[in-house]
Amino acid sequence: MAKLTGIPASPGVAIGRVFPVDRRRARVPRYHIQPDQIESEIARLDEAVQEAVKQLAQIKQSLGEGEQEEILDAHGMMANDPTMLEGAKQLIREELLNAEWATRRVVREMSEKMGADGYLAERRADLDEVCDRIVHNLIGEKPMSAVLPAEPSVIVAYDLATADAAVLLASGKALGLVTDFGSKTSHTAILARAMEVPCVVGAGQASEIAKAGDLIAVDGGTGEVLVSPDKDEVLRFEMARAEAEFREASLLEDRDLPAVTLDGRRVCLYANIEFPEEVPSVLAHGGEGVGLYRTEFLYLNREELPTEEEHYTAYAAILERMEKKPVVIRTVDLGGDKLPVGHRSHEPNPALGLRAVRFTLRHPQLFRTQLRALLRASTHGDLRIMLPMIAAVGELREAKAQIESARQELLREGKKIAERIPVGIMLETPAACLAADRLARECDFFSVGTNDLIQYALAIDRGNREVAYLYRPLHLGVLRLIQSSVDGAKKAGIEISMCGEMAGDPAYALVLLALGLDTLSMNPADIPAVKRVLRSARVADARQLLDEAMSFSSVDEIEGYVLAQMQKRFPQLVTPAGRAASERGAAETY
Ligand code: PEP
Ligand code: MG
Repeated sequence: MAKLTGIPASPGVAIGRVFPVDRRRARVPRYHIQPDQIESEIARLDEAVQEAVKQLAQIKQSLGEGEQEEILDAHGMMANDPTMLEGAKQLIREELLNAEWATRRVVREMSEKMGADGYLAERRADLDEVCDRIVHNLIGEKPMSAVLPAEPSVIVAYDLATADAAVLLASGKALGLVTDFGSKTSHTAILARAMEVPCVVGAGQASEIAKAGDLIAVDGGTGEVLVSPDKDEVLRFEMARAEAEFREASLLEDRDLPAVTLDGRRVCLYANIEFPEEVPSVLAHGGEGVGLYRTEFLYLNREELPTEEEHYTAYAAILERMEKKPVVIRTVDLGGDKLPVGHRSHEPNPALGLRAVRFTLRHPQLFRTQLRALLRASTHGDLRIMLPMIAAVGELREAKAQIESARQELLREGKKIAERIPVGIMLETPAACLAADRLARECDFFSVGTNDLIQYALAIDRGNREVAYLYRPLHLGVLRLIQSSVDGAKKAGIEISMCGEMAGDPAYALVLLALGLDTLSMNPADIPAVKRVLRSARVADARQLLDEAMSFSSVDEIEGYVLAQMQKRFPQLVTPAGRAASERGAAETY
C-alpha cells in the first residue's frame, strides 16, 4: 500500500479502481516549407483552427449547462485569437515554418510574456492546451485522450487538461479524481467542487504509483490518497464515507429550519461562492443568502478583462437564482498574485501590497466597469455591495464616492437602479477592527474576513505551510479583534457577519454566537453542521464558554478548553481530524 497526502480540493470519499488518464502532449513536427507552399500551409492552419473551435463547441454542447461552459468558451476564443493566428501565419510566410511549428512557437512566445505566477500560470496552461488541440488537428491525431472509463472509476492523472476534466467529470463515470499537480484554485479543482466529485490535487507521484485497475481510496476532505489499500484501510474509508453520508442526511433534515438557539437568538447562515453555478448547492444546504461572492473568479481563465455585460450577467444570474434572498457581492479582491491580464506585480510583499480595494482605487476604470454592472444588476434581487480589505476610513469614503459617481452616470443614461443598495466592508486588518466604531458610522454592514485577519494579526502568511501551525483562530488577540468589531457594529446599529473559514467550523460556532455575530457565511456544505450546533445551544451557555476561554492566556489553553467542551457536547460534529482539515483549508485558500 502507498499513502500520499495532497491538497483537499473537493470533499467526499471515493473508493474504486484506478483509471489513468494521460495528458497527451502533441508531438510537433518541425520542417521548412517551399515558398510555393505558403498559401496551402496557411489554409491547413485555418482548417485546423476551425476544427478546434468546432470540437470545443461540440464538447460544450454534449455537456450541457455548467461551470465548464465558460472555460470551453474561453478556449474557443483562444483558438480563434487573431494575435495567435496572425503570428503563426507570419512565421509561415516569413520564416517558411510548417504550420505545427509556427503555432507552437507563437504560443510559446505569448506564454513567456505572461509570466509564471498564480493566476497567469493557469492562463498559460489553457493556452498550451489550445495549442495542443490545434497541433493534434494538424497532424491528424485524435486531439484528446478523452476515452471514458467503461465502469465508474477513480481518475488519476499527472495533470488534466480543463476540457478533459470537464468531459470526465460530467460523464458520471468519475467516482473521484486525483492529480499529481494543481492547486485548490486550478480549474480541475473548481470543476470537481462544482460537480461534487471528491478530488485531491497536488498529490505528488500518484500517477506514477497508481496503475490501471489498482484499488484506490481518496478522501477529498483531508487530502488522503491510498493506493492498493489493505482490507482494514478500505473499511476505514468506507466507514468514514457511510458516517459522512449519514451525518449529512441527518443534518439536512433541518434544512428549512432557522438557525435559532434554544433561548431564541437567531443567527443567519449564508454561503460563500465563487461561481453562479454554486447557487443550487447553497439552496440545497439551507443557505439563507450569499454572504460572499468572490468576483475575482470572473477574471480567471481569460485573455481579456471581463466586460460590464459579463459582470452584469453573472450578478443578475445569482440574484435571480437566489430569489430575493440577500446576496453580498464583493468587489474584486485582485492584487498580489491574483492579477488580470496586462497587469504585472513586482511587489516583494504582495499580501501587504496593492491588493483588494487599494488595487481597485488605483485602477478606477476597472472598478467603474464592475460598479456599473453591480448597480444595473441591483434590480434583480436583494443586492449588497461589499468592499474588501478596507483598512482606513479614507478608503471607504473614496470607494463610496466612486459608487455614487457610477450611480449618477447610470441615472443620466436612464438606467434603472434599486432605490437602496447597502454598502458594507470587510474587516480584514487589525487596524480596521480597532477602528470599527468609526468605520461603522459610514457603512451599512461589516463582514469579518478571518482568513486575512488572522494572517495580518498574527503575522502568518496564510499560504505558507511552514507557519501554518501558528495560524490559530482562537488566539486571544484574534478574539479581541472580533470583539472590538462587534462592539463597533452594535454601537452604530449595523449588522455584522463573518465570512472567513472560521465561520464554517462547528467547533467555533458557540464562540462566535457569544461574540455576537449576526450572520455566519461559509462553504455551502458546512451550513448544516453549524446550524445543528446553534439550534442545540443557549446564548447564556455560550457566553460562559467564551468567558472561561478568554480567561486563559495562551492559545493552547484557549483552544484546548473550547475544543474539549465542544467535543463533549457535539461528539459527532466536532472531531479533531475534521478540525485539522478545516484549518488547513483556511490557511490554503489562495
Ligand atoms: C477572508 O479573508 O476571510 C475572506 C473571506 O476573504 P478571502 O478568503 O477571499 O481573502
Ligand atoms: Mg480576504
